[in-house]
Amino acid sequence: MPKEKQHTAYDHVRAQIKEATDILSTEPIISDMLNHPKRVVQVTFPVEMDDGTSRLFEGYRSQHSDALGPYKGGLRFHPEVDIDETKALSMWMSFKCALVQIPQGGGKGGVVCDTKELSEREVRRLSRAFMEAIQDVVGPNQDVMAPDVNTDASIMGYMMDTYSKSKGELVPGIITGKPTILGGSEGRSSATAQGAVYIIERFLKDQDKKFEDTTVAIQGFGNGGQIAARLLYDLGCKVIAISDSKTALYHQEGLDIPKAQQAKEDGDLASYGESEVLSQTDDLLYLKTDLFVPSALDGVIHKENASDIQANIIVELANGPTTPEAEKILLQNNKLVIPDILANSGGVIVSYLESVQNHMNYYWSEEEVLAQLKARILHSYDLVIQHAEEYKTSYRTAAMIAAINRLEEGIKSRGWT
Ligand code: GLU
Repeated sequence: MPKEKQHTAYDHVRAQIKEATDILSTEPIISDMLNHPKRVVQVTFPVEMDDGTSRLFEGYRSQHSDALGPYKGGLRFHPEVDIDETKALSMWMSFKCALVQIPQGGGKGGVVCDTKELSEREVRRLSRAFMEAIQDVVGPNQDVMAPDVNTDASIMGYMMDTYSKSKGELVPGIITGKPTILGGSEGRSSATAQGAVYIIERFLKDQDKKFEDTTVAIQGFGNGGQIAARLLYDLGCKVIAISDSKTALYHQEGLDIPKAQQAKEDGDLASYGESEVLSQTDDLLYLKTDLFVPSALDGVIHKENASDIQANIIVELANGPTTPEAEKILLQNNKLVIPDILANSGGVIVSYLESVQNHMNYYWSEEEVLAQLKARILHSYDLVIQHAEEYKTSYRTAAMIAAINRLEEGIKSRGWT
């Protein structure tokens, strides 16, 4: 089902801000700053294709707030990347970093491209060319990029190399989510999913619910969704449905996730087994499960389909998967939404730990990194619950209130207003 087109992710984040600032009676100048990125850079750059021709690509970097530290956030490669969505995603990053109390701001980048149509070498040249195009506005103390949709550690490695060459010295802190051989942090590649799974574990424990009695549906089988599926499967949960952009698999007794990972690696999730393939990938959204974990793109739960969601708890591993109108319907139907800026904050938490290690030039073990991730994300979860009780709001509005309080304190402490 197509998502509602009349409202963009930018409208959605602004509606979420309004909900929180109305409760806080935030001063208009602070609200204005929260509603507008400080700087948005738009670039075009040519890339040489394998056949010898060149193609012009377009990319963006939105720098929303550096009140609490350097702009921080991922870079995505996707045909539907646009300037408004990039702005919205950079705003969510500011709230995410503020909520989880790391000294970083919010940024986001995107390049309009379809990686499925590009060779590995073309992706490498494109990554280097984008870094060259924006190198003057990024830096380890200025703006630090990281992986996002369709970008990974190897792309971060190429971009770190391009930036370092241009500066004439090694600058590992220019980007996070790098390969560990280049100063990437242990635990970073699984951090987004792992963070959400720590919250799920705590939630189930608080509810006295056993893993083996918990059913899960996961939309998206990229870095977030695939690793979340595997971690939940390893804990003993029944992952009854998963999907990528082409295929959805469903098995009421629980899918064999290692087998699905193999099918995906072999190039086609559908090769898992014909009898498990759902005729419509979207059908996965409407299954009766304990947990639904959207892990793909924004706006997938919208006002036309929200009342069909049967899962009791929605854990937003993607950024912005639920529109504000949809969330109202979910809340009326007594669903619990664990919001993106909390649920998927594990990635940026470990990115921060990666920056710290790059600055120290001293590296922690995976165990040390995961212990810090767990403590930080569960502390933020407790904070959201406390704020929800205090202000009698949804978890999302509670998370936004906690984040906005910190951003406001940072803005005022700098004397910007
Ligand atoms: N792209 C991830 C996010 O949306 C990670 C950002 C980062 O590590 O900077 O949170």
